[in-house]
Amino acid sequence: MKAKPKFETFAIKSTQNQFSNAEPISTPIYLSTTYKRNNDGSYNNDLVYSRNDNPNRKIVEHSIAVLENGNHAYAFSSGMAAVNSIFQTLKTGDHIILPDDIYYAIKKLMDQVFEPWGLKYDLVDMTDLIAVENAIKPATSLIWIESPSNPQLKISNIAAISKIAKNKNILCVVDNTWATPVFQNPLEIGADIVMHSSTKYFGGHSDVIGGCIVLNDNNLAEKIKNIQVLSGAVPSPFDCWLIARGIQTLHLRVTKQAENALKLAQYLENHSKIEKVNYPGLASHSQHLIAKKQLKNGFGAMLSILIKGNEKETFEISTKLKYFATATSLGGVESLVEHRKSVEGNDSPTPSNLLRISVGIEHIDDLIADWENALLIDTI
Ligand SMILES: *Cc1c(COP(=O)(O)O)cnc(C)c1O
Repeated sequence: MKAKPKFETFAIKSTQNQFSNAEPISTPIYLSTTYKRNNDGSYNNDLVYSRNDNPNRKIVEHSIAVLENGNHAYAFSSGMAAVNSIFQTLKTGDHIILPDDIYYAIKKLMDQVFEPWGLKYDLVDMTDLIAVENAIKPATSLIWIESPSNPQLKISNIAAISKIAKNKNILCVVDNTWATPVFQNPLEIGADIVMHSSTKYFGGHSDVIGGCIVLNDNNLAEKIKNIQVLSGAVPSPFDCWLIARGIQTLHLRVTKQAENALKLAQYLENHSKIEKVNYPGLASHSQHLIAKKQLKNGFGAMLSILIKGNEKETFEISTKLKYFATATSLGGVESLVEHRKSVEGNDSPTPSNLLRISVGIEHIDDLIADWENALLIDTI
């Protein structure tokens, strides 16, 4: 094999991985879909094929597992793919308890995909523990918690609901997207599964869609891993790279965002045009005491407000803001505002005078001045 390879062969060989001994500080993006086997047939680092696993994905999964204090984490191509995989572990006839103000697309997923497949569900006000207990049926296999919830910022008592679930052998899932592991670690207080839309605070810059699941139980973990690999809703290496980069500044970003959110909530609460501010960090929030116990380092960076005015006026106020773009989604470094009802559609339970606010890392003085100005408009 002394002969120089021909043009075509050289073009392939010379452009393959040449720097395997280098130690770059920023992780390279591993686009390779496949990995070379050793002579004995084994694979290094269990890397076989990129739908099964990928170095960038491994980094994200390991990081999020540790941040959530869980044994296993699985990354998905979106938060909804992660949700989907949890429902796919259930069987026909199973009954699920969902929060009455659950993230809207999850309810739609139930109605349009999983109900036709034989799952049943009831919507329950999760702040009412008696209502949760009363909703349990012999076939109930899963209770879903979203706390703080979207868009009403309701706080559920995760420890108490997990206990109710555990007593009846029911799985308890927490959508921890809004709190992030900086403010809340549900697995530590009894939850079985934590789900995240990493599109939001993990990514942090509104440029990547992703989701993940964290859990401790080995058997359930194997089921989720199978669904991840076989259904194939896996995140791309670049998406994982962006999420890993986002995780590096997660703590800095969200603590600043939460600090801004609290100040903005306090300002808005005292404004004459505001009927109500939903923010768990305010003493006026009806589950403030639970929030204080359950959340650490702050109360998150999401709030919603009810305007003293009709739908049109509410919408108009949101468009007057300079530093809050009117856009859906949340969790990025930039502040956003959204008239939630018009996004969710007419059958949405969200009040028509509600605006949802995702607070960014801008200077708080500018953010408050922006609202001061927008609220100058005349309402009825
Ligand atoms: C965005 C979001 C989801 C869905 O995640 P995607 O990444 O958009 O698929 C689920 N739950 C909550 C609370 C969210 O904010």
